[in-house]
Amino acid sequence: MGFFDKIRSGLQKTKENISETLDSVLSVFRKVDEETLEELEDALILSDIGAQTAAETIDELRERAKRQSIETKEELVEALCQILTEKMTPNDGLHLNTHPSVILVIGVNGVGKTTTIGKLGQKLTAQGKKVLFAAADTFRAAAADQLTVWADRCGADIVRHSEGADPAAVVFDAISAAKARGVDVVICDTAGRLHNKTNLMNELAKINRVIDRELPQADKETLLVLDAVTGQNALSQAEQFNQAATLTGLVLTKLDGTAKGGIAINISARLGVPVKFIGVGETADDLLEFDAGQFVQAFFE
Ligand code: GDP
Repeated sequence: MGFFDKIRSGLQKTKENISETLDSVLSVFRKVDEETLEELEDALILSDIGAQTAAETIDELRERAKRQSIETKEELVEALCQILTEKMTPNDGLHLNTHPSVILVIGVNGVGKTTTIGKLGQKLTAQGKKVLFAAADTFRAAAADQLTVWADRCGADIVRHSEGADPAAVVFDAISAAKARGVDVVICDTAGRLHNKTNLMNELAKINRVIDRELPQADKETLLVLDAVTGQNALSQAEQFNQAATLTGLVLTKLDGTAKGGIAINISARLGVPVKFIGVGETADDLLEFDAGQFVQAFFE
């Protein structure tokens, strides 16, 4: 399956949801009038684009319709796609040019953090990079076990300590091992206890201090993993994590399981942080590099 087809099939539920509402608007479309704009706004809100982002999008569409002729359904969809694409922060990919570089993966439990790390490991090893996982979610023994399975599967190394160990110590050892073994990318799992707990945020700060001290010049990505199925809740998680860490990118998982794929547009628009990957299934190939233009197009086709 081609890349675009994969996005489209991953977004199947969202498309069905939005198409149903849009079709009824578009099938009778004659001109951009207030009634059409209102119905379009409702359709966008239904897909979880969020009231504010939907309102901004419709305002821009109204302005655009004054400047350029939007007379056909195709022209309307094209204008809408352009506006929505521009609302998202462009994805400039992962910056991993130093050896080693570090990816810190954060997010609450169950969002798909470990799976995403496994999939990322698979992607990077397939590019010929030497990858090491740091199992710094020492809160749950199962997390390190799960990560070990992914490490074996994709040929990554792993550094793990026993349950309850200091996560920052795991990261310290992982960085030492990475330096000694000539590793290209260290991917750190972290515990996902509730984001509003100060101890989790303190733990993240401590891990960051270790990384910054041991690898002061290294490229570092901090990816927040969010479960798209949780809709607006994912947005509030994103807002809270964004205050506690300097996020360089978002990963939106389980888009295959939701009709509310518009949440990707909303979160990126509201936070000003790029979505770097989307998860559209449970296997290693189901992590797609995010392209705002293609995503929005898949939404409507
Ligand atoms: P963690 O607690 O954040 O580490 O979450 P896990 O990586 O253990 O994932 C929780 C569940 O979500 C697992 O059953 C994964 O297989 C599943 N999962 C993760 N990403 C995706 C995705 O993109 N699509 C689907 N359908 N399931 C996913």
